[in-house]
Amino acid sequence: MAIQEEMMVAGVEQLVRDLQHTVRSGITKTEKWRMQQLRALLKLVVENEESLANAVFTDLGKPTHEVVIYELLTLATSCKLAIKELKKWMTPEEVPVPPMALPGTAMVVPEPLGVALVIAPWNFPVLLAINPLIGAISAGCAAVLKPSEISPTVSSILAKLIPKYLDTDAIRVIEGGVPITTALLAQKWDKIFYTGNPTVGRIVMAAAAKHLTPVTLELGGKCPLYIDDSVDLKVSARRICQGKWGFTDGQACISPDYLLVQEHIVPNLVETLKATIVEFYGEDASTSPDLTRIVTANHFRRVTRLLDDPRTTEKIVHGGERNEQSLFIAPTIVLDVPLDVPVMLEEIFGPILPIITVKGADEAINIILDLPKPLALYVFSTNNTVQERFVTEISAGGMAINETVLHFTIAGFPFGGVGESGMGAYHGKHSFDTFSHKKGVYRKGMDGDAEGTFPPYTIARNNL
Ligand code: NAD
Repeated sequence: MAIQEEMMVAGVEQLVRDLQHTVRSGITKTEKWRMQQLRALLKLVVENEESLANAVFTDLGKPTHEVVIYELLTLATSCKLAIKELKKWMTPEEVPVPPMALPGTAMVVPEPLGVALVIAPWNFPVLLAINPLIGAISAGCAAVLKPSEISPTVSSILAKLIPKYLDTDAIRVIEGGVPITTALLAQKWDKIFYTGNPTVGRIVMAAAAKHLTPVTLELGGKCPLYIDDSVDLKVSARRICQGKWGFTDGQACISPDYLLVQEHIVPNLVETLKATIVEFYGEDASTSPDLTRIVTANHFRRVTRLLDDPRTTEKIVHGGERNEQSLFIAPTIVLDVPLDVPVMLEEIFGPILPIITVKGADEAINIILDLPKPLALYVFSTNNTVQERFVTEISAGGMAINETVLHFTIAGFPFGGVGESGMGAYHGKHSFDTFSHKKGVYRKGMDGDAEGTFPPYTIARNNL
């Protein structure tokens, strides 16, 4: 092992020991500490709105308005909810005691899992770093946050701000890429919360398995959207364009990845989508201040590779322009590509929208069922039977009907994937639960042992 690496590993080992020591002291379990930290986190978000939004702009070219509404407001709401509900979440819940265990009481006592590792991605680099921390703090855990190296400005600002606002004996930020994450993953954690792609998700899970550490894996995949002839096309096109290009330019885990469209509305929908793109971003989207850019040259090449497959290129009906220097790829629609081209096999995570013509719901459902279970499923139809078919026949992390992406704002929903799109969930009370263990505590006094329950079983034998 190189000396530098050895030092890094030694540093990480010491860090985990320090945090274990803090948890052992009991401080993080107190309601007072949790409340203080949640208030401090809210303050961090509110007081640094401008610099956080600027940092995200620097890393992704994401319009400030998008950062404020989708990242910072969501975080402020999430903190406020945790502050309001913390006492209730922490309160043990009484459950019934069966006759055999009477007299006695039974309580479900939530307890912090301990020291958590949170690994965050680059696409919503503030939201997806801090939101899991709200859960960890609410639950009374200590935590290490590892922001993404792909969004270095945000990583660095979080590394500066978090120690200023939060208790550094319990909450730490470690910056870096694969080597430091590998060193972190080698440690014994009480919980690992990972957001990112399924390939690394497998690495995280394998590392966690060595220590039997529970994991939450917030992963991605291809999110399908079915649309039929019952809907208002203009309204639908606006909602689809916002969920695709207005939400980090398609670089979001819940962006609609591809559309399955009932055949006779395809020409009209394509025209309406094109018109909406122009309405949102102008005739030349490369000059629009309202469109996020591709995060890095590597991701630019990954996305253009999907587009440059000859069987995809010939199907471009809108967009396709790109500029590597400014990391710009135009909002692009490809119509009826074969289902076995890369753009239909891989998660796109960028501004390309494939449209596939289908006869109706039956065909759409079959296409979706042939692919791994998605993180988000979208249905645009006012027909209740069609809506219910998608609800009951397709397993997905979550779904929205006649809307895109906004379901992630509903704190009552457990946000998370299923199958290939992830395991475990968070948001609202689910975040508290994700970082908690539910301990059953059965309590009884010294009285009330029923005669005949201990040997010799004379009474029972005599009653046979
Ligand atoms: P990324 O490249 O930032 O990676 C995520 C994290 O994994 C980073 O902190 C990175 O340092 C770490 N990492 C990368 N390679 C690693 C390795 N070999 N070993 C250990 N750690 C490693 O982000 P990404 O993966 O490109 O993010 C995009 C993916 O994340 C998409 O698949 C998307 O759908 C998914 N995603 C899911 C959600 C969700 O909430 N479910 C949210 C955002 C993104």
